[in-house]
Amino acid sequence: MKSAIDIAIVGSGPAGLSTADAAQRAGFTARVFERGCLADNIWRFPTFMQWHSTGENLELGGLPLICRGEKPTRQEYLEYLRRFVEVKEIDIRLYTEVTRVQGELGDFCLTLRDRHGEESTEAARFLVIATGGFSTPHRLGVPGEDLPKVRPLFDEPHPYWNQEVLVVGGKNSAVESALVMARAGCRVTIVHRERDFAGAKYWLRPDIENRIREGRIRALMPAEVVSIEPRHVTVRMTETGEELHVDNDWVFPMIGFEPDRRFLERCGVTLDPETRQPHVDPETLETEVPGIFCAGVIIGGNISGMIFIENARFHGDRILARAQALAEQMAER
Ligand SMILES: Cc1cc2nc3c(=O)[nH]c(=O)nc-3n(C[C@H](O)[C@H](O)[C@H](O)COP(=O)(O)OP(=O)(O)OC[C@H]3O[C@@H](n4cnc5c(N)ncnc54)[C@H](O)[C@@H]3O)c2cc1C
Repeated sequence: MKSAIDIAIVGSGPAGLSTADAAQRAGFTARVFERGCLADNIWRFPTFMQWHSTGENLELGGLPLICRGEKPTRQEYLEYLRRFVEVKEIDIRLYTEVTRVQGELGDFCLTLRDRHGEESTEAARFLVIATGGFSTPHRLGVPGEDLPKVRPLFDEPHPYWNQEVLVVGGKNSAVESALVMARAGCRVTIVHRERDFAGAKYWLRPDIENRIREGRIRALMPAEVVSIEPRHVTVRMTETGEELHVDNDWVFPMIGFEPDRRFLERCGVTLDPETRQPHVDPETLETEVPGIFCAGVIIGGNISGMIFIENARFHGDRILARAQALAEQMAER
């Protein structure tokens, strides 16, 4: 198959977009394929979220990120990413999922599926997988988990005002959602399997601890959810074995996400059995399949907090250095 573009990039999060920019700066043609809207995963973050990082640390490709406060909001960052694509003239196909990759270095063939289910193919010399780490929410593995009141994603507190809400987890997302909902007038219970919130950012910990102390949030910990019923949730206290029936309208299991391992495996990329990290060269981010690279959070496997925008935004430059060397080798042949 004749290659129409040099570098195909799967995923339009910060890692995919900054890699496209790096590719264009290096003189390659690049095209980004995104199964949803631009930066679909970030778009799904809580509506009124503010980033933990300062704007400067989230900038891509040297384009200034201007925000009203010290740290940008989700909304400001989405605006920034739209502007980034326009200013950098990035070639992007939205609502186009990459379902399969065949071929080899210099001649990859991507199978694409648009939102109407129509399939097409695209050829590329190199492939960058930047599919992120939020493909599949971790499951609690308890009866009742598929009831409509169970929400793996928190958007905004309004629909849950004056309701009995149970948040499961003790890391940043769980703690932040519990705090936001409690402040908005939801009656929040947080269930966490640890004794403390050591897994949350240092500035969130005193906030949640104080809200628990003053009785605004009820904490059951260490504890785990045993089952979810339409009107209540059964929670087991780990240390005593006691089972509690907690009145409940909504459940937010905020216990993390899994990257899309199967897509990597379908591309021929192998993973560490324990960490689920793809085997990549630590310097060039090239996988064992010559010409296929990984960028962004997908590299961290199931180790959360290892890769985030602050460091993923530089992956493109490392990938491009290697792609340039490979392109030169191919030209010499
Ligand atoms: C609540 C929260 C707060 C955070 N705060 C910060 C912070 O303050 N600072 C920081 O640096 N990081 C932060 N992070 C982490 C940051 O959001 C991620 O590191 C970042 O989004 C990862 O970028 P990425 O490009 O690797 O992946 P993603 O942003 O996840 O993008 C991957 C994209 O690939 C697409 N995709 C997946 N599979 C396919 C396919 N087969 N075909 C086509 N498209 C596909 C997805 O739809 C998605 O748009 C936070 C994360 C969360 C959850």
